[in-house]
Amino acid sequence: MSRTVLVTGGNRGIGLAIAQAFAKQGDRVAITHRGTFDPAVAPEILGVTCDVTDPAAVDAAFTTVENELGPVEVLVANAGITDDTLLMRMSEEQFGRVLDTNLSGAWRCARRASTKMVRGRWGRMIFISSVVGLYGGAGQVNYAASKAGLVGMARSITRELGTRNITANVVAPGFIETDMTDKLTDERKAEIRKAIPAGRIAAVDEIAGVVTWLAGDTAGYISGAVIPVDGGLGMGH
Ligand code: NDP
Repeated sequence: MSRTVLVTGGNRGIGLAIAQAFAKQGDRVAITHRGTFDPAVAPEILGVTCDVTDPAAVDAAFTTVENELGPVEVLVANAGITDDTLLMRMSEEQFGRVLDTNLSGAWRCARRASTKMVRGRWGRMIFISSVVGLYGGAGQVNYAASKAGLVGMARSITRELGTRNITANVVAPGFIETDMTDKLTDERKAEIRKAIPAGRIAAVDEIAGVVTWLAGDTAGYISGAVIPVDGGLGMGH
């Protein structure tokens, strides 16, 4: 059965791979972007502009998707940023901006999606967290806090909406080849690779496969879970 899917931050990286995977299986897919989506890259996907830190923009994006494709049945809250620095040097602005994007942004989308999911008595919310959310990361107090927060949020949504056939899960990627990890030095990448039992950095498709599976009918009894996709890096966390 085809569904209406919205992926935030779906113009590139992990989000784009997730959106393309849903489109490939025949779903109606929309992505949010902040002005840099080339429809030629993925003509089968509807692009809507939205900054997830702006509640009015989130509302408007959902309204557009509802009008064009129908109510959002699968929400993938993927938009995220890093702004790394050591705790002692981290400014209010650096902490607040990362939390506002990664955690509050996901909450704004979940809240907006929930009313229609409850009415339709079906829904899947998937939050893209990070291995760092539970494992921690030096220089990533803001990022790790935002990603850990998604776990509490998904579990609370599960308790609130579980009886309505709505699931809320967290996918926790390890290190994935995207613009976000491109910023790392070669030396840092080599260190990371050494720490990963799988001995490699993953491709975006390896996240997309897990997300589409979680959104499918066979995963309907999985909720409040944290699914690591990290080559074994965070085992036990
Ligand atoms: P990228 O940096 O490649 O892409 C980030 C996406 O988020 C872009 O689409 C970007 O839009 C969007 N975005 C950022 N800020 C906002 C905002 N305020 N409003 C709307 N959209 C926004 O990241 P990845 O693809 O690597 O990461 C995707 C998700 O996966 C993130 O949540 C990240 O934390 C998580 N993750 C990534 C890992 C990795 O190794 N790459 C590991 C673990 C987790 P724009 O193009 O406009 O900037």
